[in-house]
Formats: sequence, C-alpha cells, structure tokens
Amino acid sequence: MQDKKLLELALGLLSPWTVKDVKLDLENKKLDIFIDFEKGGRFSCPTCPGASRPVYDTKERTWRHLDFFQYETLLHARVPRMECPTCGVKTVHVPWARPGSGFTLLFEALVLHLAEQMPVLPLSRELRVHPDSIWRILMHYVEQARQNLDLSKVVAIGIDECSKQKGHQYITTFCDLERSRVLYVAEHRHAEVLQEFAQDFKDHKGNVEQIQQVCCDMWPAYISGIHEHLPNAAITFDRYHVMSMMNRAIDEVRRSETKEQPELLKRSRYLWLKNPENLSGTQTARITDLKSLDLKTSRAYHIKLALQRLWSFRYPKVAERYLKKWYYWATHSRLEPVVAFAKTLKKHWDGVLNYTRSRITNGIVEGINSKIKTALIKRAYGFKSFQYYRTIIYLVAGKLDLPTQSC
Ligand SMILES: [Zn+2]
Repeated sequence: MQDKKLLELALGLLSPWTVKDVKLDLENKKLDIFIDFEKGGRFSCPTCPGASRPVYDTKERTWRHLDFFQYETLLHARVPRMECPTCGVKTVHVPWARPGSGFTLLFEALVLHLAEQMPVLPLSRELRVHPDSIWRILMHYVEQARQNLDLSKVVAIGIDECSKQKGHQYITTFCDLERSRVLYVAEHRHAEVLQEFAQDFKDHKGNVEQIQQVCCDMWPAYISGIHEHLPNAAITFDRYHVMSMMNRAIDEVRRSETKEQPELLKRSRYLWLKNPENLSGTQTARITDLKSLDLKTSRAYHIKLALQRLWSFRYPKVAERYLKKWYYWATHSRLEPVVAFAKTLKKHWDGVLNYTRSRITNGIVEGINSKIKTALIKRAYGFKSFQYYRTIIYLVAGKLDLPTQSC
C-alpha cells in the first residue's frame, strides 16, 4: 500500500480523498490512478460557506495528468454532488482540477509554461492534446489573470502599431513604459482604439487622468484619440519613428537621383539609412567620398544628421531654437521629399520637442513588438483569429500573474 500513499502525497490529496487503485498498462504505456473519497465523507458547498453535507450522488470523471515518465497518466474519480440547503444540489470542487476542465491543474500549468515558448500546434502534438483544448486552457488563464490586473499605478504608456501581415492588418498595442509590458491589444488602428483602451484601463483600476505621458507615432487617429480619452497626457512623438520618416525622405531623394547618377549611387541605399557609427570601414570610406560630391542625396543626408542632433538637447528652449534653424534649412533644400517631411514635422512640433522633457521613446514597445512578431510569425495563425493573437501576446508580453507548476 506504500505506493498509494506516495501517490497521495505527490498529488497533494487530503482527506477525504485517497488513492484507491493504480493500474499500470505496460503495453499501452498508460497509468491509471483511481481516486475515491472515504466512506461517509462530507463536502462543503462550492458556492456558499455553509456547513459540509453528506454525498447526494456521484458521477465518474477522468482527468489528464502530467505524464509519469513515458506513461500517459489519467486520474479517475467519482465526483460527488451535495445538497446545500441554500443553493440546492451542487457538484463538489475537486482539489486537483478546476471545474469543467478535463485536465489537472498541474497539467494546465505545464501547458501555460510551454505555450510561452512554443507554438500551439507542435505543443498539442507533443502533449497529445487537441489544439482546441490547449487554446481553451490558454484563454481561460489569460482572461482570469487579466481580470485581476491592477493598473492603478500606470502613468506612462507607449502606443504602437504592429502589422499582422506585411503592410496590412494592423493591430495596436498599448504598453506600460515603466514595467515594459503589454496592457492592451486592439484589433485595428482607428481612433476608437483609444476609447477601447481607456475603458479596459478603467476596468482594471486604471485612472486615465493619471496618465501623464504617451509616446506614439504621428498617426492622426492616435493623436485625436489621445486628446479625447487621455485628457492629461502629454504626447511625445517617438524619435525612432521620426527618424525613420526622415530616412524615407532620403530614400526617395536617392531613388530619383539614381536615375541621373546610376554609377555613383548604385547599391548605396543602406549607407544613407544606417547611423554613421554602424557602418563598416569600407562603407565609411565610400560614404565619405560620396558626401564630398555635390549630390542631392548627400544634402538630404546632412539634413538627417542635423536632425539626429536634436535628440541630445536637454533644454526645451535650446532645442526649439535649433529645430527652427533646422526647419529653415530643410524647407530651403529644394529636395521635395525633405521639404514635405519638414512640414509634417512642423505640424507636430510640440510632440517632437516634448522629448527634451519626457525623454521617453517607444524603444521598449519596439522590443516587445519584435518579441510578439517572432511569436506570431512562427505561429502563423489564421486571418480571423484575433482572439488567438491577443491571447498569445498577453501570454508572452503581458507579464501576467499566471499559475506555475509549483502551485
Ligand atoms: Zn451553498
């Protein structure tokens, strides 16, 4: 009988629950553990704190448990119902599984742990469980953990878009810039996403009036949504987005100039786009030569280097004076894409200069996004499965309080 006691300990069974029988099927590599309750066992009501009552009737149930070495392990038990004077006849909660689940708590914790690191499909094959069952487990725990989220201390957020597929199907992620975690994922990037976020934020003890800083790109829908739903937030436009817009302008200049100077400019694209400190020795030598020529692309490049300097200023007044000079230079460059970019920047002046005060960027968000992208691209979910996307994002980047295997 020693083996049954050992299993009771391993399963954490307490009176009145005991292990009644164990069957090892060597041929089919299966281990069946039969659990039962002691005769005369009494159970308390699952929904109210009333006194414990005798068993009303029972129903046979089976749960998939962690494999015992290579043996697929199943728990079997007759689950009692009891009759509560207040609530009526109720199924008793068993301590090893949550109500309605065909898996033990430990098995579900293993699923959560593995799903953070591998896609659902191979995981389902590995564990020999239908993918839908895996999804049900993930969604249940992610939802439960999100219900308990306390966002009352969040004061700075980053908003970013992330495309589900190259170039289209955008989703918006809202991140906590201080704790680098995803707070909310919205299915598109319309202005309504701010309203959605604000509601979800309030539902989790967040105070929208307490949000002081928001970092985002110049997407008009975000800007108008922020003004409407986050009344006290100062916007800082993400410097990486600003610089990538500048880079797009350079690239346009280079492309049209390449038609006039194909020999000089061929295969030079990345020289102009990369930061000078990231260039190799030969690349530096080539760009030094090119810069000395009177090229339009080279002029655009100098304007970019000048804009880059803006981010090092600490005093808003000094930064503003500098940006005005830069603007004058850029708008008199006679380089159409550069002029257009400078004018866009002018419209977002305050949010650009706000960086000198807030010093926030979406660097963290970009990091989270690349983590999400790797997770999602590898997982390649279907087009319609936004719920799946969202669940995986919360799982890998939400820093949620999920059950672990040591529970
Ligand atoms: Zn009751």
